[in-house]
Amino acid sequence: MNQIKVFAPATVANVSCGYDAMGFALSELGDNMVFKKTETKVVRITEIHGADLPFEADKNVAGVVAKLMLQHSEADFGLDIKIQKNFKPGSGLGSSAASAAGTAFAVNELLGSKYDHLQLTKFAMQGEVAACGSAIADNVAACIYGGFILVRSYEPLDIVPIPTPSELVATIIHPQIEIKTEDARKVVPETIPVKTAIAQWANVGGLISGLYAGDFDLIGNSLIDYVAEPQRKLLIPHFDEVKEAAIKSGALGVGISGSGPSMFALSKGMFMAKQIAEAMHAIYEKSGIDYAIYVSNISKTGARPI
Ligand code: ADP
Repeated sequence: MNQIKVFAPATVANVSCGYDAMGFALSELGDNMVFKKTETKVVRITEIHGADLPFEADKNVAGVVAKLMLQHSEADFGLDIKIQKNFKPGSGLGSSAASAAGTAFAVNELLGSKYDHLQLTKFAMQGEVAACGSAIADNVAACIYGGFILVRSYEPLDIVPIPTPSELVATIIHPQIEIKTEDARKVVPETIPVKTAIAQWANVGGLISGLYAGDFDLIGNSLIDYVAEPQRKLLIPHFDEVKEAAIKSGALGVGISGSGPSMFALSKGMFMAKQIAEAMHAIYEKSGIDYAIYVSNISKTGARPI
């Protein structure tokens, strides 16, 4: 195989109570990437469409991950990489993770499937280091495994894929404002009372059980975040209104995607998900803020060839 074209899904990390430990992949929103083997052992980003990102291989997460994997596997080829971004970086939908995980998946295919999902996640996490300074796993793992994942542990890295009911649909709104990652981090409390921790981990248990059992009421009742959302939502215009309107339109729950500003709602079935999208439109079209709305199934697979 000399060339591969892949789809790398957008991902929702945190998932309310699953703050810093859960994520899921979308099937209808993501980036396209093309990887072509070259004879020189050089990694080049030759085209980027849809976003203003660095072409230098050491500054673009795709280049960082590709170089690392070619080195690790002692490959005798180089790569030309084309990137088509279909959603904006800084949205809270795992833009850098899509490039990092898409690259990990594609390079592995070109190497003849040398590595497993866990090892690919570790490579992609190095892309996250280049993008934001820390080796965060939730977005890249969701992008590689697909569906819902739980990052159970970092040392050692343990990623647990969680079965997802096929009728579960996500509605996402991306208000196009900038939230600095450091601001989003600063507002999360460094310590929480044990009472809060108990409420949070009880909901994580509920969410995981609900996903396993396909129990939509349990999923909805568990989608509560006592740790990050109470402060982070203050950085997102109209968060409470969007949440209330989405729930009135049938959402099981609503939360912040990653560190925002995107918000996600989960619901049962496409009809309801589209109604929720309408309710989100109604609030944001009056706001004067640019926004994009997406409705998507949960991706059963992670990054995949197209
Ligand atoms: P979010 O998860 O909110 O979408 P990211 O964590 O993806 O945001 O952060 C994007 C950051 O990563 C930007 O500073 C961007 O310049 C950097 N970056 C480097 N390479 C890429 C890439 N290939 N795709 C997206 N972002 C990249």
